[in-house]
Amino acid sequence: MRKIVAGNWKMNMNYHEATKLLDSLIISRSSIPEDVSLVIAPPAIYLSEFSSAIRDYPKLFLAAQNCSNQDNGAYTGEISASMLSSLGISHCIVGHSERREYYGETDVLVNQKIKKLLAEGIHPIVCIGENLSQREEGKHVKVVQEQISKALDGLSQQDSSQLIWAYEPVWAIGTGKTASSEQAQEMHDNIRKHIAAEGFNSDVPILYGGSCKPSNAKELFSCPDVNGGLIGGASLKDQDFLAIANAYS
Ligand code: PEP
Repeated sequence: MRKIVAGNWKMNMNYHEATKLLDSLIISRSSIPEDVSLVIAPPAIYLSEFSSAIRDYPKLFLAAQNCSNQDNGAYTGEISASMLSSLGISHCIVGHSERREYYGETDVLVNQKIKKLLAEGIHPIVCIGENLSQREEGKHVKVVQEQISKALDGLSQQDSSQLIWAYEPVWAIGTGKTASSEQAQEMHDNIRKHIAAEGFNSDVPILYGGSCKPSNAKELFSCPDVNGGLIGGASLKDQDFLAIANAYS
């Protein structure tokens, strides 16, 4: 299975900083192992220019951080899946915990967005994960299973094979706390088994996200069911992001 190291830049970096970071990743692309794809998710305003900039580099892909659940029309501020595909964007993050928490995104909305993306041939990177109280109450497996079931609702086998999952325990995002490799492996194994239990092919990439950095990437990525990472803070520094991608070498 291909390995994916994705960088979620969130709402960081002005145009000059963003293009400098992209240029640096382009220059260093040959240092990344052959079987690793780098997916970069910059703020949407940069996608058009970045799409032209990476066109000739097969190991580099672009992701949007979000998309609309609607096709087109009077939805001020939204960006549709077809707009993304018209720019050649190949991936899109959906259901990030920050969108669920700050913008009230529900599992139903996430499922609608997944369907719009799949209709446009874009790989959804579907974020799932429990918060701290859910983990402390021992509900983490159930919470994540429910998110998976709802994300998969109404999808075909072919659809589900296009998904990339990102297990992101909310308590580990941006907190400096990382899931241990045992915790990550336990959840990734569980996620894979639940996808299979829902009747879908579970041989799909499952990324780990949550304070992944150069110092812990190797250990996390050595887990058999961890197929890469979704990286927030550490993706804003070229050397850190490249070091994480090189954890596979
Ligand atoms: C994220 O927000 O997807 C993430 C993993 O952030 P960080 O790496 O900063 O914890």
